[in-house]
Amino acid sequence: MGWFLPVRVDLAPIVGLGYGKIGRYFILTAFRFMGNDSNTAASAAPSNFLRGIIDADSASGKYASKTDATGKPLPTVITRFPPEPNGYLHIGHAKSICLNFGLARDYGGRCHLRFDDTNPTKEDQEYVDTIIDSVQWLGFSWAHGSENHQYFASDYFDKLYEMAEWLISAGHAYVDSQSAEEMAANRGSFSEPGKNSRFRDRPAAESIDLLRRMKAGEFKDGEHVLRAKIDMASPNMNMRDPAIYRIRHAHHHRTGDKWCIYPMYDYAHPISDAIENITHSICTLEFQDHRPFYDWILERLAEGGFFNKPLPHQYEFARLNLTYAITSKRKLLQLVEEKIVDGWDDPRMPTIVGIRRRGYTPESLQLFAERIGVAKSASWIDMGVLEGALRDDLDEKVPRFVSVLNPLKLIIDNYPEGHTEECTAPVHPHHPERGQRHFAFSRELWIEADDFMEVPEKAYFRLFPGNKVRLRYGFVVECTGCDKDASGKVIAVHCNYYPDSKSGTEGSSNFKVKGNIHWVSAAHGVRAEVRLYDRLFKDPHPDAGGKDFKLALNPHAKSVITAYLEPGAEKVLPEDRVQFERHGYFVADRIDSTPGRPVFNRIVTLKDSWK
Ligand code: ATP
Ligand code: MG
Repeated sequence: MGWFLPVRVDLAPIVGLGYGKIGRYFILTAFRFMGNDSNTAASAAPSNFLRGIIDADSASGKYASKTDATGKPLPTVITRFPPEPNGYLHIGHAKSICLNFGLARDYGGRCHLRFDDTNPTKEDQEYVDTIIDSVQWLGFSWAHGSENHQYFASDYFDKLYEMAEWLISAGHAYVDSQSAEEMAANRGSFSEPGKNSRFRDRPAAESIDLLRRMKAGEFKDGEHVLRAKIDMASPNMNMRDPAIYRIRHAHHHRTGDKWCIYPMYDYAHPISDAIENITHSICTLEFQDHRPFYDWILERLAEGGFFNKPLPHQYEFARLNLTYAITSKRKLLQLVEEKIVDGWDDPRMPTIVGIRRRGYTPESLQLFAERIGVAKSASWIDMGVLEGALRDDLDEKVPRFVSVLNPLKLIIDNYPEGHTEECTAPVHPHHPERGQRHFAFSRELWIEADDFMEVPEKAYFRLFPGNKVRLRYGFVVECTGCDKDASGKVIAVHCNYYPDSKSGTEGSSNFKVKGNIHWVSAAHGVRAEVRLYDRLFKDPHPDAGGKDFKLALNPHAKSVITAYLEPGAEKVLPEDRVQFERHGYFVADRIDSTPGRPVFNRIVTLKDSWK
């Protein structure tokens, strides 16, 4: 684990004027790089500073006496996962889901699934559906007893509007009618304070009248905007009279054409939290500078009698940055639209649907989230940590099979033609109670092409003329030569076997050989399509510093081969996982695999061999 210099990334914050989620500002105080040895991650106690905060709140009884509108006591931990339904969820969201739902579970509270659908132009029901599916697949639920805690920010549009009128009447908001250019010029900068709008002190009645007419559709987009009245000289740009409502003549996927003004994210979000009695509102670091407005708006509305204290509190944590992956929705969309991948659920994609199709288990993602912990400063997590979590989850669970991925014929010349005998292997090497597999041995087998070398390299212990190896779970054979085609390519290997060397029989211990290779009987093996997946990018930081991530694509991230599998592998059901001995963990593809005609995806290799 190494420590790197502080890094600062500015993403032009635009005070109160960006549509939907307003300006973003990252301060990456330190880059912690977690190594690719999963043991490192496992042994370092996962740290989650939020648990300390929740423990302290429990000790002080901060939320102990909160009740809902009917007077019913509320849990002391209520979190929410608030996706915007404008894209598919990715591995970074998985971290946030595991965090929010995990804390609620561990503290006997509840977690709400809330769709932050305040930006009508980018949102769609398709995304709502996939988000629901992904959160459930990860193993979480927004049900709490008989209650269902799935919400939409758009359900609060009426309340949000009512509060906006009250804010005006209380002197906390005004309709600004400056042009976009004027507003930009008066915004100031990091080093200079902004200037008050000439509409800032217009009478409340006039602002209310304008807001009503905005709502009634009398104006065009951008003609007026409702702003909070805070401080145009604040050093925090987010406090310089941020926009809270703007005109947007757009169809909304849920409210249809009812509204032509929409609340800004920074306004809708804290209020949604307060309506739902959220206690700990957890978001990523770029919202740190938005917290003063979060607190300001809730304080004002509490004064107006809309909410009771204690109010929700926002906490920020470092978003997940995963090496060899990108987690920008926009760039993921580009991969799909430009057909660089085969869709959102392409097994190379870092989307939850892609990771699922690749073969990752929900448990492995939860384990990954636990291992990486929750920090206050930005960090890079190595892809190896994610892969390690999958290996650690599957090693104990899944049955073993033999597979030959790059087949070469091995002919045992002294084995009787037409004869077969049974070999036996454990379903799981550490769990004899799971039983045995049985498969045929015969005169012609498939072996891996790279388990043979006509002229061996140094320290090569597998098949070469004159050398003996054990055919795993079978016999010891001695290589006698090979056949080649006209171009000199090896097309078959010949050997003789020792009839008294069979694994599991008394005589087998008399044979000491260094090589042990796997095989599948040619007459019995199951032909199957296998898709060998690897990391989508060859650069650990494919889009860092504005780099063109398309130049970093790994051309070997997908190859489709025909393999020979141990009989029985054809019965593996879609989405069941197995270990192919020596090769790694594989899953029967959930879409394309059918019993009898299996299609396997490689999830990860057995060891981290990435170079
Ligand atoms: P955008 O807001 O640009 O559409 P987003 O990735 O922030 O994209 P949201 O749908 O707003 O998407 O995210 C839902 C939740 O997931 C937010 O609370 C956000 O903080 C969290 N989240 C998003 N990306 C990550 C990440 N890489 N690591 C951890 N949490 C994340
Ligand atoms: Mg977001």
